[in-house]
Amino acid sequence: MQSTLNKGIANFYDESSGLWESMWGEHMHHGYYPKDAPPKSNQEAQIDMIEEVLRWAGAESATAMVDVGCGIGGSSRHIARRLGCAARGITLSPVQAARANVLAQEQGLADRVSFQVADALQQPFEDKSFDLVWSMESGEHMPDKTCFVGELARVCMPGGRIIIVTWCHRNLEEGETELKGNEKFLLDLICKAYYLPKWCSINDYKAIFRAEGLQDIKSADWSQEVAPFWGAVIKSALSTEGFNGLFKAGWTTIKV
Ligand code: SAH
Repeated sequence: MQSTLNKGIANFYDESSGLWESMWGEHMHHGYYPKDAPPKSNQEAQIDMIEEVLRWAGAESATAMVDVGCGIGGSSRHIARRLGCAARGITLSPVQAARANVLAQEQGLADRVSFQVADALQQPFEDKSFDLVWSMESGEHMPDKTCFVGELARVCMPGGRIIIVTWCHRNLEEGETELKGNEKFLLDLICKAYYLPKWCSINDYKAIFRAEGLQDIKSADWSQEVAPFWGAVIKSALSTEGFNGLFKAGWTTIKV
């Protein structure tokens, strides 16, 4: 039985992915807009995000990647081309998985890149299957971060690399046991709009990685670099095409 959360997530992406693709293209994540960089399109900023993450993580080669929470597969296809690897992607949304496979076919990648519906917390893969484990902006949907990281570690080959790009709340100060009331209020609103369970911090993630026995753990906060993305999203939603599309996509998307 699928949980209510998973059903909500699947339905949200089933309904909204077509509109997103028509307005933004195949990547469903933030763009990377470093300070003082020359102007660029949002689509370039999204590709830059993937490239910057690969560079930051030192991921110069891979033979097999898994894209956990793959959307319509933009990261998988980009990285498969870029590193020459095979890729498997999983999403909760049947509409996304089907569309991702069509795009792989159209882009001549179907022999080594494929997508399916599956839960990141119960992945349909053997242990140690991938040398690159990639999760771009899907971790925030996971209700159990320990189980999520455990699954990423399980499917990762020894010596492989796990990359998680995800939304986190700030690290707590010493002596703090929880976020402030106004911070929690704001996060609750975002959670309701985007089908997100409870947030955690970068330090929480790092503690889980350490407990899993993962090595060479590093982290970075790119809040400033991605902030301009939200202005661009609001602008595109307010365009005539965006406005009409929202009505077609339905209430789940409009709520956001
Ligand atoms: N990584 C993609 C999509 C990000 S949107 C991109 O950058 O383009 C978030 C994705 O996470 C959606 O595809 C959603 O279906 C997926 N997701 C959320 N919870 C999931 C879960 N438990 N198992 C698998 N996929 C999940």
